[in-house]
Amino acid sequence: MLCAGIETFPGIVQESFLDEISGGDLKAFKVYLRSQKTSIGKKIDKRTVYNHFNNVVSFLNTYGRRELIKQTEWPTYEEKKVVAYDPEVLAHLLKFADEDEADVLEFFLGVNFRNGEGAHVEWPDINLRTKEVRVYSKEEKFGWQVKDSEQRNIGINDKLAERLVARHKRYPGNGLVFGNAKGNPDTHLLRIIKRVALKAGLNCGQCVGTHQRKRMSCANAPVCRKWIIHTLRKSWASLQDRIKTDFATIQTELGHSSPLTTRKYLAAQSHNTPRRRKQINAAAALVSQNGMRLSNKNANRANLGIGGNGIHNRTAKNENSIHDPASRRPAAGHPRDDAKEMGEAREDSGCQDWRSDQV
Ligand SMILES: [Zn+2]
Repeated sequence: MLCAGIETFPGIVQESFLDEISGGDLKAFKVYLRSQKTSIGKKIDKRTVYNHFNNVVSFLNTYGRRELIKQTEWPTYEEKKVVAYDPEVLAHLLKFADEDEADVLEFFLGVNFRNGEGAHVEWPDINLRTKEVRVYSKEEKFGWQVKDSEQRNIGINDKLAERLVARHKRYPGNGLVFGNAKGNPDTHLLRIIKRVALKAGLNCGQCVGTHQRKRMSCANAPVCRKWIIHTLRKSWASLQDRIKTDFATIQTELGHSSPLTTRKYLAAQSHNTPRRRKQINAAAALVSQNGMRLSNKNANRANLGIGGNGIHNRTAKNENSIHDPASRRPAAGHPRDDAKEMGEAREDSGCQDWRSDQV
């Protein structure tokens, strides 16, 4: 299959042969890409424009057509921080959803669909025996195409499968899973998610959006920009990554042709989730445990009179035994000794911060 961008490029240029293509054609292609819209009518984002453009330039490079356009004339985009919802936040959100709302939320979270993919899924696309759902273009029926023409199958978790069985009983037939009242694709599924987020008190309270034709704050209207279906998709990828699903499976199920795109879906964890707190403390514990082990080992070596500077140790022990009655304390593993040794190490390193941290 051809990469995104390469399929559309021949339709934009006038030339029939590769060696006739010029920088002007690439500039025209850039303008064309910027005017393109997604299945929900929004302009495609700058990063997608760049990706499609990059695919075409790489293709031309392969056939020896290099340096047709200056780097400064390439489409540009800003690298965004990858954001995903934490599991704790999602669990809280779901508590505020009724059955129909939870169907939408758990579906998008469970199968990583894009907005358009969820809006066009029909009951026959779901196999509840094998627990998988198929995504493919439905041009004839709905005039809708899956992004990058990438068909794929995605596994459905057991809980979502049960939920879908219950939904199918409420909404029988072979139509759309999330159709609107007229049986057409519901292009406003995002509104459902934003509505639940407001009920759950999970809006940021800082942004403004249009609700019932009025500009309103997200503090009291379902307009928070924090809540988008694409972030549920990224959350799916990040959760898969955290449970150590292999990268190739994540990439395939997301429908990405490039691993670089998948990499950009994996968000770092928020530092204040219970899981991350546990990791932060576990990482710190590695240092203290090794510090303890080193202390014990050194004390044992000193007692046995061995080590790289065995003579020094022996001498020190002898000196202590003469001048310091306290040195008769058992050295190995004694907490006070460990503390003393840590203190000495700190004195040696001259690091003030360590001292205050360790107290
Ligand atoms: Zn907001």
